[in-house]
Amino acid sequence: MKERLLKYLACPACQSEVALRDGAELDGAEIMAGQLDCTGCRREYPIAGGIPRFANLAEVEEEKAATAAVFGWEWKQFTQHDEKYGEQLLGWLSPVKPEFFRNKVVLDGGCGKGRHLTLAAAWGATDVIGVDLSEAVDTAFAATRASENIHVVQGDICRLPVRPVFDYAFSLGVLDHLGSPIEGFKSLASKVKPGGHVSAWVYGAENNRWITGFINPLRVNFTSRLNPRALFHLCKLPTAVLFLATKLIYGPLSRMGDGSSARRLFYGDYLSFLSRFGWREQHSIVFDHLVAPTAHYLTREQFETWWTGIQAQNVTIGWHNKNSWRGFGQVRAGS
Ligand SMILES: [Zn+2]
Repeated sequence: MKERLLKYLACPACQSEVALRDGAELDGAEIMAGQLDCTGCRREYPIAGGIPRFANLAEVEEEKAATAAVFGWEWKQFTQHDEKYGEQLLGWLSPVKPEFFRNKVVLDGGCGKGRHLTLAAAWGATDVIGVDLSEAVDTAFAATRASENIHVVQGDICRLPVRPVFDYAFSLGVLDHLGSPIEGFKSLASKVKPGGHVSAWVYGAENNRWITGFINPLRVNFTSRLNPRALFHLCKLPTAVLFLATKLIYGPLSRMGDGSSARRLFYGDYLSFLSRFGWREQHSIVFDHLVAPTAHYLTREQFETWWTGIQAQNVTIGWHNKNSWRGFGQVRAGS
């Protein structure tokens, strides 16, 4: 971690500031190993492998730990960077545009391998902090340590180890894997300063009945219980079907005319979008859908209650690729 991260950190237990203990091990400007002490409750948090560790899987609820463990495995395996991540991110964050990030202090709740941290920094954020419970933080740290304004922290999204000083916080494809998604969303929004903004993207219940009815029972009872490496190999089969369908049918049709003939096919909007990705990315998407012990598919009404729950203003809720909900809103000034 860089020393400038300290001013954003807070004890997840009591919200007090944390201080760096003397004797930390440095590698250039990077604090690779050391100890953070809470100035309030005196709890101690280690810095290891360059990352401040405010939570570990041994201390969180079993289901949450199991979910974090498999996503951690996923992001250590699928470390690829895809040039289409920027376009994909803007699809999830719409109506946010790259220039929105300029001079903002940004929080990514559930940063995975850190792919969005790099983009937020490239789009002009002052500082970007990615928090994740899983071992994916090691991948994220390795991918971003050269940037002085990107920071990676291991922590629980429901007990975020940061101060409420953010201009913008987002969480994408993460909250729907919590036991209580709304709890995670409220925690995320509580770290945004009054007048700042929040974005969230989650799976939708609408138009996903083939997943909730057919894939979910398979995921819950079978695929999420497999060893991740076995599932990784097993996923090559459905990925092959997906790859051929998107490359031979959805992709070519979506490039013809206005693309409406591809969109009329089964799951057309989403599969047309996926047709632009290569094998490795599609493999990671299939794996991602089958690996999680917990996954919620939310209706628009359920998602709307998140925003009323934090009394957000100027809320925009959008239907993304006809299979997921994206929301953007402003945290009440003076609340
Ligand atoms: Zn404390």
